[in-house]
Amino acid sequence: MDAVAEDAARRPRLTVLAGPTAVGKGTVSAAVREDHPEVFLSVSATTRPPRPGEQDGVQYLFVSDEEFDRMIAEDELLEWATVHQVARYGTPRRPVEEALAAGRPALLEIDLQGARQVRETLRAIGWADAVFVFLAPPSWEELVRRLVGRGTETEAERERRLETARVELAAEPEFDVTIVNREVHQAADELVTLMTLGTPSGRSLGRGDTDDQ
Ligand code: 5GP
Repeated sequence: MDAVAEDAARRPRLTVLAGPTAVGKGTVSAAVREDHPEVFLSVSATTRPPRPGEQDGVQYLFVSDEEFDRMIAEDELLEWATVHQVARYGTPRRPVEEALAAGRPALLEIDLQGARQVRETLRAIGWADAVFVFLAPPSWEELVRRLVGRGTETEAERERRLETARVELAAEPEFDVTIVNREVHQAADELVTLMTLGTPSGRSLGRGDTDDQ
């Protein structure tokens, strides 16, 4: 590796993790938070109410619609989207910029619309050092099982999420790398390895030779 390539490899990386509903993005992020404190994990703002066990400022910043409007108006969000037609979610810009400036790799766990916005924003400012990771389920059947198994949504909400998941799965080719979420800590380790060491663009991690996709 020459000096320029070595320098690029050492630069903190912005990583965007997206994937279909219920694939386990939140659980993989939680494992990254637990196992890899060196990684900066962006805390999104959301207008949805907290679920049991969720704490303000840990999983999300729980804000009112008015506060979310203010954040958009003052350009405090790197991206934002309405997810499942119910609530708004957005990535506060400043903490991400500060983490990268301080040399910490930063992870955004966001939905597909948000990932597309981040790609456009980075393209506009000429930031090339980002990697877009698609978290895939081992199979469609497993995704449905996880979606139903969670049991925190109503029937109508579940149907809506399944439909969204179908559309989201089709977006995999837009991403640089796919990680298959077979086991949460393994997926988190693969993700952090990728964030800190990198991998040749387009390489698929963890898919193996099985035909279960
Ligand atoms: P949940 O309400 O189940 O925690 O998350 C619902 C969806 O919102 C997930 O697909 C998650 O990736 C997405 N999400 C969480 N934070 C953000 C964010 O800051 N921006 C965008 N665009 N999506 C987000």
